[in-house]
Amino acid sequence: MQAVKDIIKSRYSSLMWNSGLVSAWLKFRPRKHLVAILNYHHIASDVFADHVRSLVKAFRVISLAECCDYLQGRLDVPTNSVVITFDDAYRQFFDDVFPILKQYDVPATMFVPTDSIDSQEPLWFNRVKALVFGTRQESLRIDDAVVNIGEDRQRAYHEVTALLNGCSLEARDASLDHLFRDASFSDRHIARYRPLTWEQIREMREFVTFEAHTLSHPNLRILDSWELVREIEGSKRRLEETLNHEVRHFAFPFGQRAHFNDDVADVVRRGGFDCALTTIRGSCGPGDDLFRLPRIVCDGINNGRILVTRLSNLWVFLST
Ligand SMILES: [Zn+2]
Repeated sequence: MQAVKDIIKSRYSSLMWNSGLVSAWLKFRPRKHLVAILNYHHIASDVFADHVRSLVKAFRVISLAECCDYLQGRLDVPTNSVVITFDDAYRQFFDDVFPILKQYDVPATMFVPTDSIDSQEPLWFNRVKALVFGTRQESLRIDDAVVNIGEDRQRAYHEVTALLNGCSLEARDASLDHLFRDASFSDRHIARYRPLTWEQIREMREFVTFEAHTLSHPNLRILDSWELVREIEGSKRRLEETLNHEVRHFAFPFGQRAHFNDDVADVVRRGGFDCALTTIRGSCGPGDDLFRLPRIVCDGINNGRILVTRLSNLWVFLST
């Protein structure tokens, strides 16, 4: 069913694109003063190249700093502007994405959970994912709860992550230690989650701005105030000391309403940031709350025509 839906989306987007409707609509569409902040985690190089090829024809790619200045009325930006952001600092970015950014000379921002760069360990929820998808065990125990693995491993992964995201940092790390102490699983699922190194980050600085995404990628909503300050300001300090540049932008880990609140946003604001990005779907306009900016998650969008048709809002009958 999903395959059929993908084919329909692709045909529809090609028709809109090839007929010239997309570019005509982009000139006249209402709300064209909005900026779309795109969000990626992992994306295949050929798909990302196709996204960028289509984007540069129909949109202007601006930096996140330009976008923030625009939202505060300090800068004018071209109509139909977009910002490219990536989260979680996977090594795949260096191999597959950075060469394309360089080739097309477009700016991007990467949000970095700094502990994983220091430790060179994949992020905790990716280790959980590798375990859930690679284990032969029938169930996993998280504290007092038992999660059955079953056929649908994606569901099991979400259940385990939700349980761990409901714990304090101390309890989460104790549960993770317990989970991995005797775990046996194939490591073929973990390779894609290897983090960038500081050397790779330094090499990309001319094209990519590296910004804060906490130390350990926790659910900020459940942290004590001192833990919030440590995670948010600690990651800013670590990046600034290591890269010798000022860090002004922040992205909430996980980024949905369940993962931050007013208190969390206040700690970010007081920590010396200009804005904070969510993963709540939407575009941004002047006057928006800078500490709850929406983004459009693009990891699963199969080609550039679909992306541009979706961004143009000519997406009349396929909403997902
Ligand atoms: Zn993240």
